[in-house]
Amino acid sequence: RPLVAMQSVSKVFSSGTVALSGMSLTVENGEFISLLGPSGCGKSTALRIIAGLGDITSGTIDWPSSRINAKGLPEGDIGFVFQEPTLMPWKSVFGNVYLPLKLRGVSKAAARDQIMSALATVGLRDFAEAYPRELSGGMKMRVSIARALVTKPKLLLMDEPFAALDEISRQKLNDDVLLLWKMTGITVIFVTHSVFESAYLSSRIIVMKARPGRVHADLPLVTNRERD
Ligand code: ADP
Ligand code: ADP
Repeated sequence: RPLVAMQSVSKVFSSGTVALSGMSLTVENGEFISLLGPSGCGKSTALRIIAGLGDITSGTIDWPSSRINAKGLPEGDIGFVFQEPTLMPWKSVFGNVYLPLKLRGVSKAAARDQIMSALATVGLRDFAEAYPRELSGGMKMRVSIARALVTKPKLLLMDEPFAALDEISRQKLNDDVLLLWKMTGITVIFVTHSVFESAYLSSRIIVMKARPGRVHADLPLVTNRERD
């Protein structure tokens, strides 16, 4: 069963802007999908809808592999990494990564191993007690990835996550995300407007087109991963 099935989804904002029009997309378990397209083509809107964060104007979206709550939305299976790390400055790294578990009523003691393992995944095991202001931009981004992973989601959504970082940090984080995908088998949808990034990272590129936003091309990639 696919993780996400979007059928002819349209999204018209109250301003009248048609962000998506007839977008269909099926996401299979284990894929690394790049959503590629120019600014304003509806990538973020599509990602938010996939996350269950925005309602749709017409069409259907289903999460056939997920537990669905009373609102018809997937419960707990999706981690989201935003363009800005959005960490709480008054909480330590540990406290920030704890938040999603805290919201589910998990005690700090019970969450400890999961938090430390999420931090280890992003190479920040030794920074649990640090505060966001002590971290570089790339490290803050890593914390926000750990926070997204701490609930062990099946699907990781990333909205131009490293756009604000310098080239070297971005390349390093891209490699880490790729490694994470290979090691854990997590499914990733990664929004970017970089053709290079999408080709470098993904197993499938969805090219989107603006006005109105929809899928322009669906490109499965043949990548030689053995040499990595
Ligand atoms: P992308 O992520 O590809 O840059 P977006 O999904 O952010 O594109 O936006 C698609 C279109 O919808 C754009 O024209 C944008 O201005 C518009 N849009 C996005 N969010 C809103 C909103 N909350 N209200 C009104 N229009 C919006
Ligand atoms: P990023 O690329 O993640 O923004 P840099 O690699 O440029 O960060 O590092 C910024 C500073 O933080 C450097 O002094 C670097 O040694 C330190 N640093 C970054 N990540 C780690 C880590 N996982 N462990 C120890 N130090 C780190």
